[in-house]
Amino acid sequence: MYDVAEVRKDFPILGREVYGKPLVYLDNAATVQKPRQVVEAMSEEYYNVNANVHRGVHFLSQQATELHEAARETVRRFLNARSTAEIVFTRGTTESINLVAACFGEAFMREGDEVIVSEMEHHANIVSWQLLQARKGIRLRVIPVDDRGQLRMDEYERLFNERTRIVSVTHVSNVLGTVNPVRRIVDVAHAHGVPVLIDGAQSTPHFAVDVQSLGCDFFAFSGHKVYGPTGIGVLYGKEEWLDRLPPYMGGGEMIGHVSFEHTTFADLPLKFEAGTPDYVASTGLARALDYVSALGMDAIQAHERDLTRYALERLRQIPGMRILGEADDHDAVVSFLVGNIHHLDMGTLLDRLGIAVRTGHHCAEPLMQRFGVEGTVRASFALYNTHAEVDALAEGITRVAKMF
Ligand code: PMP
Repeated sequence: MYDVAEVRKDFPILGREVYGKPLVYLDNAATVQKPRQVVEAMSEEYYNVNANVHRGVHFLSQQATELHEAARETVRRFLNARSTAEIVFTRGTTESINLVAACFGEAFMREGDEVIVSEMEHHANIVSWQLLQARKGIRLRVIPVDDRGQLRMDEYERLFNERTRIVSVTHVSNVLGTVNPVRRIVDVAHAHGVPVLIDGAQSTPHFAVDVQSLGCDFFAFSGHKVYGPTGIGVLYGKEEWLDRLPPYMGGGEMIGHVSFEHTTFADLPLKFEAGTPDYVASTGLARALDYVSALGMDAIQAHERDLTRYALERLRQIPGMRILGEADDHDAVVSFLVGNIHHLDMGTLLDRLGIAVRTGHHCAEPLMQRFGVEGTVRASFALYNTHAEVDALAEGITRVAKMF
């Protein structure tokens, strides 16, 4: 049995009050709260181990290096990658996507070549490619989204041509909660000889991900969304692809030998990790992945799906409610508008009741345009949320709506 009351004890912040009301934290798609175990693992490393990694002969440096590389192994296991050579530490999903756009673009794309993205992408997976568009004259092709918030797979297949070089789509929409059929997306792309990058920022916190069974060539996620610290994320890449990409940044750690005439680069994955890595954050991330794995990703998913179903059921009963995103496969995000109440007003008034939601375009302006709205209110759930919190949300919305 999943014991949410027991789980909540690991998250001290959930006991806080705001404006004299118990905090109801429903902004988990932006970032989640951290369990004690993660913060303690990081303090412990700062207090007892801290030393720069990879270069030191001394005891502490070796111990810090061992922790950092053990964290890489934990990430490998979490994603079921074949090897730790395929796990690159970055600062987050945004940096991981930028790395692929810059390095893949450099090596494999020229003017007129195309990348396929979707209408539901986060700006991180749009603007990174637009920078390449400006530099190299590549083109973005866009998979449309239907009225229920699902990718138009028929249209997707029609976007391929001899200039298609890469597909880059999100696993789960941070606005609609739609879970995209990644395996099918990958199969279609591979049938055209095209690799696929998956933005896993919103999938890794919610269900088990196996990069080998998804078959994707690259996969990006952020530590802070999966109960780890800020400032660290991961790029998974198949070894055969990472080997063929040029380095992203130059500096220490990523080199073999340097002279003014000729520099060689380190082997994978260090080739992509210039400079001192956040080796304390990698320990925190590993502890977070251990934490969710111990609870069980399937148990977390079952709990959150149950909450999401309950939230949709309760919210649909509110007069004037419009929910954006009614996909069959719907994850722990609910976006909505009520009557003509501005999303910012709704968010601000819910906040006064202690309920933290997000409002605005959620870094997905093209998707807002698709649905003809300027923004939405978004409630997103984590492993520690409860049915009582969903009740508080529904009652809060009803109260705010009555004020208008
Ligand atoms: N992609 C998606 C789908 C996201 O939800 C987010 C975070 N809102 C990002 C990318 C960017 O993540 P980060 O800011 O951690 O790099």
